[in-house]
Amino acid sequence: MGQIELRNVRKSFRDVEVIKGIDLTIEEGELMIFVGPSGCGKSTLLRLIAGLVEASDGQILIDGDDVTGKPPAERELSMVFQSYALYPHKTVRENVGFALEVSHMAKADIKAKVDEAAATLQLDQLLDRKPKELSGGQRQRVAIGRAIVREPKAFLFDEPLSNLDAALRVEMRLEIARLHKKLAATMVYVTHDQVEAMTLASKIVVLQAGQIEQVGTPLDLYRKPANLFVAQFIGSPK
Ligand code: ADP
Ligand code: MG
Repeated sequence: MGQIELRNVRKSFRDVEVIKGIDLTIEEGELMIFVGPSGCGKSTLLRLIAGLVEASDGQILIDGDDVTGKPPAERELSMVFQSYALYPHKTVRENVGFALEVSHMAKADIKAKVDEAAATLQLDQLLDRKPKELSGGQRQRVAIGRAIVREPKAFLFDEPLSNLDAALRVEMRLEIARLHKKLAATMVYVTHDQVEAMTLASKIVVLQAGQIEQVGTPLDLYRKPANLFVAQFIGSPK
């Protein structure tokens, strides 16, 4: 579960088309990274998948079901927001379990799911703390924990590491790679950082001005960039 398919997806804000007919299949278990310069449409594309933005044209399918026009809650995806979106007055346990509480799950079941997510993310010792008592990396792990407990079909990340310092970014990059392997989940990840994309992705989508320049593995892009834009962006000779 977790295949996402975009068919000729377009998005205009007022009269300006910012997503210009995207055809793309993200296979189950893939860690697909959207990369490209600021303003090229990465966040909009992710938000279209999440249902936070409605497509002007085209279709979005999740596991073969047409979800175009459906609200986020009916798509069974989890968007991982940056760590500052945590509830400051709630503990780690309450932050991670919040979506389940809202869904009226039984308390014992919530506890079990939160404990399991905490073990996966090495948050076991931190469950009673408040966000302000955590490091940046720990907060980011809590933000991921909130997504995990919902058992989504796919995880969507929008520049999750951009607020962290350089050392922590590397640490969290490894953490996300580890998590991807452990959960074997579909992940769609947006970054403007080509190093992050090249080291983390199973596949990369290079975007420019709302269009796909190339889709491929990091090695494909490095060895056979489709054009000068990709070559320069990835930093390989051509
Ligand atoms: P990226 O994430 O690659 O930096 P975005 O997807 O945020 O790019 O934005 C792509 C383009 O769409 C930009 O020109 C941006 O100004 C425009 N845009 C994004 N969201 C909106 C919005 N809600 N209303 C109007 N224009 C928007
Ligand atoms: Mg963005």
